[in-house]
Amino acid sequence: MDVNSQYLHPQYETLSREEINKLQTQRLQETVNRCANVPFYARKFKEMGINAQDIKSPEDVRKLPFTTKQDLRDSYPFGLAAVLLDKCTRLHSSSGTTGNPTVILHTQNDLEEWANQVARNLWMVGLRPNDVFQNSSGYGMFTGGLGFQYGAEKVGMLTVPAAAGNSLRQIKFITDFGTTAIHAVPSYLTRLYEVMQEQGVDPRRDTKLKVFAIGAEPHSEEQRQRIQNMFGVKAYNSFGMSEMCGPGVGFECQEQNGLHFWEDYYIVEIVDPDTLEPVPDGEIGELVLTTLRREAMPLIRYRTRDLTRVLGRTCPCGRNHVRLDRMKGRSDDMMVLRGVNIFPIQIEKILMMFPELASNYLITLTTDRALKDEILLTPIVKLVPKGSLPVSEGKAVRVVDKRKVYQ
Ligand code: ADP
Ligand code: ZN
Repeated sequence: MDVNSQYLHPQYETLSREEINKLQTQRLQETVNRCANVPFYARKFKEMGINAQDIKSPEDVRKLPFTTKQDLRDSYPFGLAAVLLDKCTRLHSSSGTTGNPTVILHTQNDLEEWANQVARNLWMVGLRPNDVFQNSSGYGMFTGGLGFQYGAEKVGMLTVPAAAGNSLRQIKFITDFGTTAIHAVPSYLTRLYEVMQEQGVDPRRDTKLKVFAIGAEPHSEEQRQRIQNMFGVKAYNSFGMSEMCGPGVGFECQEQNGLHFWEDYYIVEIVDPDTLEPVPDGEIGELVLTTLRREAMPLIRYRTRDLTRVLGRTCPCGRNHVRLDRMKGRSDDMMVLRGVNIFPIQIEKILMMFPELASNYLITLTTDRALKDEILLTPIVKLVPKGSLPVSEGKAVRVVDKRKVYQ
């Protein structure tokens, strides 16, 4: 570990496109071989008449079947395991934001590789063993807890498993321990700032904070700017999902020009959610990920339902791992109002333009049958006293859909 290097894993982070292609081809073949142990995949490969020898380039991933969240649910709990349970050392379950939980298994090696990804990210944004990392994220089944814990420890930082909530205690830890970096969901940081203000704590004057890792929920560029301006701290977007491991999958570098998705660990595809055909770079589509290193539960062409687009495949930071735009939201979060598709972060973007407004908001959808066909769509904006909207300790709940009552 060379603390002066800007890369934690230079041999992987600075691969050329050619080298990435070569590595991905080899690792995809390994993954296909591993998946042959999973009856679900073995059956599909047989039906499609495909095996590892048919993989000659990363694009050949398109010859392979998709995997959906429903497939994970149908295989609950251990149906997609590619190794014996004796080999597994950890089980996580997705938080079930959008339905029944799913189970994800890890071998010891999977946990090691997961920690490597998180450590690489934290190193990338300038954190080093002499930093103090406070993980203000839910622990337990939610992967943001243990995922960042092991990654930050791997960097060698003093790591504080503060967990979510209890802002007064968070602030005490920040000031007493000299915390330099925090991981939290963005909606929580805006709340933390309010409590700091109430307590007369000025983050610029009274803390050593310099880096935030924010993620696990969609947020707008405007919300990021707001958080950065409040604290005087750089906030880096962190993308993860339990099905891939947890946090660590994609992270912004110091250029803050999109999330680098680690192509030594995943094959990244963006597809049209209807036709499932690849979309050109720059066009929004559904993110599809294939794991390249996972042993316990490799997943092929997993449909994440997250919508994003490719921004580029090179970067001034020297990493050629694909850069993706911040997630627009999940296809499940999309509100269809009079045929217009709207995502909560589009509304958030507008709200953040008013500095006099606090950062929390709740969108309530209702239907008035009598008026339905008469009125144009005009949102009713109701200002409520600061602090009166519920603040979740985990991912923020932004939409309440009362329309279902009428259906
Ligand atoms: P659940 O699916 O139950 O919410 P996860 O914790 O695995 O459990 O959530 C992963 C999802 O969280 C992603 O698919 C994505 O929708 C969302 N997410 C994670 N990180 C980000 C981020 N940085 N920006 C936007 N959305 C994110
Ligand atoms: Zn970069």
